[in-house]
Amino acid sequence: MTHIRYDDPLTHIVTENVTTPAPVIAGTPVTSKGDVREHFGKLLHSSVDGKGLLYHPTCPKVHQWVRTAHHKWLTGRGFIRAVHLRHNLLPSGMMLSRLSSAHSKSCPVCVIAPYTVAHILQQCPRSHGTRIKRHNAICKYVAETMTKLGFKVEWEPMLRTTEGPLKPDLLASIGECAYIIDIAICSDGIDPDKVYLNKVAKYEPVADALVDTYSDIKLSAFVVNWRGAIAKGH
Ligand SMILES: [Zn+2]
Repeated sequence: MTHIRYDDPLTHIVTENVTTPAPVIAGTPVTSKGDVREHFGKLLHSSVDGKGLLYHPTCPKVHQWVRTAHHKWLTGRGFIRAVHLRHNLLPSGMMLSRLSSAHSKSCPVCVIAPYTVAHILQQCPRSHGTRIKRHNAICKYVAETMTKLGFKVEWEPMLRTTEGPLKPDLLASIGECAYIIDIAICSDGIDPDKVYLNKVAKYEPVADALVDTYSDIKLSAFVVNWRGAIAKGH
């Protein structure tokens, strides 16, 4: 904000000595943009539908699509539904039960499970087929990206290791370099970086198995939670 200096000495003295208290939001004085951001961030992450966004601030790239008005992959309706999904605002039974007791909080298939979007997407046997399709769609996207960069990509290669056979989702190679890649879509209640580290550790024996074929082996994973937060990796 531009600081205005008044020419009249009295007006200058009076305006310079105004004591303006900091605005208070929910009992906390906020004095900067950072304070406001932090306050509303905490509020969001402590709410039922907002706590699943806890891992989003660590990966700035995942906010890009929300700001893109003309998205080539999504219709307007699809974009709105994707925003609803990110904010856990799709009308699940659990959400509708907050509005009316006519809606059930329990999954009609699993009965004891809560009828939430998280359950439908991550656990419910009814959506098993769709879950596989979602996993394969992300595999395809990663494979196409690597192919465009000149990598040869194998899907689900069966690799013999000292720990028994292991089958990562993808093996992308170029010359002496190979990426062992696994794909995971995790829940919004776990740090995607932890899932990433577990995936990489799981495929460590593969690096020994391929050491005679490739001199540069990279163990990698593409991990994203169902609300769009992406693991950063090492
Ligand atoms: Zn269910």
